[in-house]
Amino acid sequence: TAEERDATLPHATKKSMEDHLDKYTKLFTLTAQRMRMIVDAFEETLDKGLQEWGQCVPMFPTWVFGSPTGSEKGDYLALDMGGTNLRVCLVSLLGGCKFEITQTKYRLTEEQKQEDGEKLFDFCAECIKEFIKVHLPDVTAENPIVLGFTFSYPCLQERIDHGILIRWTKGFGAPNVEGHDVGELFRKSLERHQVPVVLAALINDTTGALIASQYVRPTTKIAVILGTGCNAAYTEEIKCIGKLKDKGLNGDDVVAINCEWGAFDSDLHQHLPRTKYDLHIDEHSNKPGEQAFEKMISGRYLGEIFRLVVMELIDEGAMFLGQNTYKLETAYSLDTAFLSLMESDPTDELLTIIGIFSHFYGLETTLAERQFFRALARLIGRRAARLSACGIAAIVRKKGYLEKGCDVGADGTLYNKYPGFPQRIHQALVDVLGEQGKNIKTHHAEDGSGVGSAIIAAMTKARKDAGKY
Ligand code: BGC
Ligand code: MG
Repeated sequence: TAEERDATLPHATKKSMEDHLDKYTKLFTLTAQRMRMIVDAFEETLDKGLQEWGQCVPMFPTWVFGSPTGSEKGDYLALDMGGTNLRVCLVSLLGGCKFEITQTKYRLTEEQKQEDGEKLFDFCAECIKEFIKVHLPDVTAENPIVLGFTFSYPCLQERIDHGILIRWTKGFGAPNVEGHDVGELFRKSLERHQVPVVLAALINDTTGALIASQYVRPTTKIAVILGTGCNAAYTEEIKCIGKLKDKGLNGDDVVAINCEWGAFDSDLHQHLPRTKYDLHIDEHSNKPGEQAFEKMISGRYLGEIFRLVVMELIDEGAMFLGQNTYKLETAYSLDTAFLSLMESDPTDELLTIIGIFSHFYGLETTLAERQFFRALARLIGRRAARLSACGIAAIVRKKGYLEKGCDVGADGTLYNKYPGFPQRIHQALVDVLGEQGKNIKTHHAEDGSGVGSAIIAAMTKARKDAGKY
């Protein structure tokens, strides 16, 4: 066994697991002081994005004005194109802050993420057509249904049903979409397939989460997504948005801003303490030089950071000597879900970790190695949570919510499934903001990409019917 093999190794090798851990602890730990510096820079960056177009963190106005009343009513469709799945939802808004939802999920293959954009949107249109056939027999060309399209990538919007894709994120790369109006591309696919829907709104998942959270908890001012990607949206006053000055909008109105904070520090690389593993991930990604913040935080990358550290130790001859490690050599072969599992292993022997390495990689591990792996997962997970908190703290400080406090809607696999992630965020908020950090509360957001999208479609329709912009 690995244990026996380990017993024959010189003492120095065994001891070295702890030395290695010390080294990685230094690399991955964010002190409160360091976080405060990040928050300062972040706050400045957010403001720059609000004042001028074309900034690194673009702070997109979403054209979603005001907040939901809770009395929105009617049946709406939502299409959710996230990082992993495609989802079609029928949302019935019942008034009184109540709703019902029926949904179907479709898996998006890696090939679909890379094939021509037209094909990707055609596939979306076909899924909706199928869904309508099954669930909505009364919906016809003469009696179409209103749809909100949750398209969770950075889009520059001039109106709510329009959006130029600035860049793909989360590993997508479909050609002929970047630089194009996604609303228009999607509408063409709907026409080609004769799908009886009217596209009312193109929305980001963070905006959806913000509005869906406000629907049930009106005090919500910020929403974050911590999942395959990471980002935030919040409610901003028009008069604070310098770049909207000449658009003839009412300065006292409020609008949701999609920050696209995953791009933070991608221009200067001055503020984030990136390790060589972060640099490796960036250089080998399909979008080098982009989404610097997101690549240190989101679920798409955490498992890969872990794997790179383990590969380094293998190369140094510090573990798995004499075993075949080829399965671990494949990039992205270690899912972030494994880090969640490792962290929550309840057994002294760390049986879950034994299982992961033997089952998926054919590797035997010693207890010392398994303890190291769990500690390493903690370091990577904690760093991600603390960086997320820096972003939240920056918005909170910018908006002056510290004293009165504020509610933050949060969603995504990391927030929902990674053990201790919310608690780590709260701890970090106190580290950065002091005792008042306790006034900032995160809550699991309602399904923003489904329900939020439908509510926004309803709000948009109501504004249009009232003759407002
Ligand atoms: C995208 C954002 C999105 C976030 C969470 C990021 O990669 O750029 O638009 O909100 O992922 O899904
Ligand atoms: Mg999603």
